[in-house]
Amino acid sequence: MRDPQNLKVALISEHASPLAAVGGVDAGGQNVYVAKVALMLARMGHQVDVLTRRDHPDLPGSVDLTRGVRVVHLPAGPAQPLPKEALLPHMPEFISAAERLTRHNGGYDVTHANFFMSGMAGMRLKEAFDIPLVTTFHALGLVRREHQGLADAFPAERIEIERQVMQSSDCVIAECPQDHEDMVRLYHTDARRLSMVPCGVDTTDFRPMDRQRARAALGLRADEFIILQLGRMVPRKGVDNVIRALALLDARVPARLLVVGGNHPSPDEHLTPEIGRLRRLARCLGVHTQVTFTGQRSRDTLPLYYAAADVFVTTPWYEPFGITPLEAMACGRPVIGSAVGGIQYTVVEGVTGYLVPPRHPQALAERLTQLHANPSLADAMGRAGRCHVRRSFTWEQVVQELDRIYRSVQYIPHFNSWGLGHMLPDTAPPHTARVIPMEGLHGHA
Ligand code: UDP
Repeated sequence: MRDPQNLKVALISEHASPLAAVGGVDAGGQNVYVAKVALMLARMGHQVDVLTRRDHPDLPGSVDLTRGVRVVHLPAGPAQPLPKEALLPHMPEFISAAERLTRHNGGYDVTHANFFMSGMAGMRLKEAFDIPLVTTFHALGLVRREHQGLADAFPAERIEIERQVMQSSDCVIAECPQDHEDMVRLYHTDARRLSMVPCGVDTTDFRPMDRQRARAALGLRADEFIILQLGRMVPRKGVDNVIRALALLDARVPARLLVVGGNHPSPDEHLTPEIGRLRRLARCLGVHTQVTFTGQRSRDTLPLYYAAADVFVTTPWYEPFGITPLEAMACGRPVIGSAVGGIQYTVVEGVTGYLVPPRHPQALAERLTQLHANPSLADAMGRAGRCHVRRSFTWEQVVQELDRIYRSVQYIPHFNSWGLGHMLPDTAPPHTARVIPMEGLHGHA
């Protein structure tokens, strides 16, 4: 029997499955977030269904990830990988399947949608079954358009859909202050609907390790100044900026740039064209012998890469949150990041690392030179980073906050015209408590 205190949660993540290998073009932070949130919610006693797209014909209808977490594969177009930009036309199929599943399961207490297309499914479940909707966007179309311009291949409807999802959600989760500001500034979202919950890091998996031992395990030289760049291989991550900074370093600095990530475990430029572009740039700048591309790496080996580094660098053009700086800090390494999005919120300037302007290789080169010249400062920053994430960015804290939000939206009257979102529960009189629709649905199974 299910404890009535525990919730039945539909975690929708149409393109980012918790089962996918991470590090390619379309699998990164959102996959990690959904996997971790699902596991931690289950650990609290909640029952979680992760609804994601069936992107391979061999995938079973559902997979039990752990006790309390089931990944359900829903049809949405051909059962093969598709770029997320091409998924919108297949969403009606996904939404109908989500509706059937919900009816069959006797409903959910809350839907937590991740990304705007999942938000469409969340809106439908709210409309059909009166299930409260919490949304985390992970990325916003207008921000992307601001930075990517014509390179943004998402359909124009994305923006209007995002607006509708923001209006229909009982609570919208901003991942950092910049995300909050963007939703208010660009979408005119009522700030009272917004709640800020960052991402987290597992400080047991990601922990400090001896640098030289990690290098020996990875076959890396002991005497180089290793700069680590790790993440999805897409232009907006600004890896070219790091290569340009490397070329500006004094020739006497024995620097090596280690680039982890790609569509495949081998750093083959046919499989990951972005690696080809970056290799050509490194060759052009005369630093190709100092750059090592590893390809995609599995999560269990990542702590070794962080530990092997002297410094972790990430200089994207924009960043909705950015989990990699948290991982580097958890491993006790200083971080130099661009002063954008979530990075400027997680990296404490001058304490856990440095913030530099994006697309500014000179500024990055200066900070790298400083850390190379002062290893004890770099070590102190690494230690400070570890304390910082343990204090402020654990997954335990993240899911406790989500749990509070999920419970609070249970009390919002169906046609909530007050716009008070998640702030209601402490003040709402008893008669506003909503009836959780599950009972009403049992008959439809
Ligand atoms: N990652 C990985 N293997 C790789 C490259 C990246 O597991 O080869 C992970 C990385 O550790 C991080 C996630 O992918 O957890 C990237 O998340 P982040 O929030 O930094 O960026 P996003 O993908 O959301 O743009």
